[in-house]
Amino acid sequence: MGEQMSERLEKGLAVLRAEMDYKVHSFFSSCVNCGVCAESCLFYTETNDPRYTPIYKTEPMRKLWKSEYSFWGRLASKLGMTKPLTEADLADWEELVYDGCSMCGRCSMVCPVGVDISMVIFKVKHALAVAGFSPEGLVETTQRAIDVGSPMGVTLKTVQAMIKHVEANTGLSVPMDVEGADYMALLSSNEIALYPEYLESLVKIFDHAGVSWTLSSQAFEATNSGLQIGNKKIAGQLVQRVVDGAEKLKVKTVISPECGHAYTALRWEGPNFIGKAYPFRVVHILELLDELRAQGRIKTTGMETDRLTFHDPCSIVRRGGVQAQPRNLLEPITENFVEMADHGSMNWCCGGGGGVSGNERAHDLKLTAFNKKKSQIEELKVDAVVTACSNCRMVMEDGLEANEMEIPLLGLTELIAEHLDEKRTS
Ligand code: SF4
Ligand code: SF4
Repeated sequence: MGEQMSERLEKGLAVLRAEMDYKVHSFFSSCVNCGVCAESCLFYTETNDPRYTPIYKTEPMRKLWKSEYSFWGRLASKLGMTKPLTEADLADWEELVYDGCSMCGRCSMVCPVGVDISMVIFKVKHALAVAGFSPEGLVETTQRAIDVGSPMGVTLKTVQAMIKHVEANTGLSVPMDVEGADYMALLSSNEIALYPEYLESLVKIFDHAGVSWTLSSQAFEATNSGLQIGNKKIAGQLVQRVVDGAEKLKVKTVISPECGHAYTALRWEGPNFIGKAYPFRVVHILELLDELRAQGRIKTTGMETDRLTFHDPCSIVRRGGVQAQPRNLLEPITENFVEMADHGSMNWCCGGGGGVSGNERAHDLKLTAFNKKKSQIEELKVDAVVTACSNCRMVMEDGLEANEMEIPLLGLTELIAEHLDEKRTS
């Protein structure tokens, strides 16, 4: 057992050392320990537990950096005055990094010396994942994603059954494996299992706007468990599946669905994970809908009279820059829209990103972190909340239910589909 644990430690240290790039060096040498990042993190503000401050979550890497790269740290190490990293340290940080960080990136926005703290936390997570210090639930879902192709065990048969329902409900056909289509749409596991209305809305909108599109039987799943667990190799394998599917169908553009981390995995990190550029473009569904709106290909009718607000999903808005598009889309169909405090790039996370929602052990902490979103919603006294990430939607539904708040959550794509002007534009 001792030997096995040493091997795990060795693996973890090897990854931490390999990940020690110039950004990490500049991070640890410029951090002035001001503590500003603490107030930006909902896991700290809602618990008041100093262990959840962003900077503390990077501690294993900082400790290694200090002992191997800083003058005084190296000296102290040589004199035997510092304790080296142990397996117990890695085990302790597993809970902090997996349960107490949603990879929301808010801390990176406030650091006065410009440190991308969440990037360093991800590197620590990567080291823990490779060393085998990851929550059981996430290990299982990641294994399912590799074996079955989907973290929730969704198969092609499940998708085909959903397609039948969608076709019956809409009277429209759902294109599958159409070579040479302009767009290839992906679905997240949540959209297949919990929110089939997303696909129904896509079918209606694309028919209305005359979009040439398809699903792929080989690559329909957008969820990337490799990114959630922090394993870059697995994240790359899952991205490669999408790339293979898109290349086979020779599509021009791949559409990332209403799922935040899928967008980060595919649009921003994917080429790094697989080590090459894509031969196609990637857009989030909101980017595409806004493009179609601007081209006059989406015409809407009627207005929502309810008091509505928009929850900005961290991976799409703060980390992905898709901030104007949801507002552009909401403006023509809402007459009583209100913004949350700190909306846009400084919005607060729902508490369930970065794999937290798939980690059962983190359930209570996630609900505590949700108190931030709860107070934002309560303050506005809204009738419903609109969002554009199925994970945020699920996490907020759970949080509102746990707090006995009966406020509906709506997907933005779905809302657009409900307001389509029946008169075709194409
Ligand atoms: S805000 Fe930046 S400088 Fe201040 S403690 Fe956090 S990481 Fe260090
Ligand atoms: S990425 Fe978000 S959840 Fe993680 S430490 Fe930073 S602010 Fe906190």
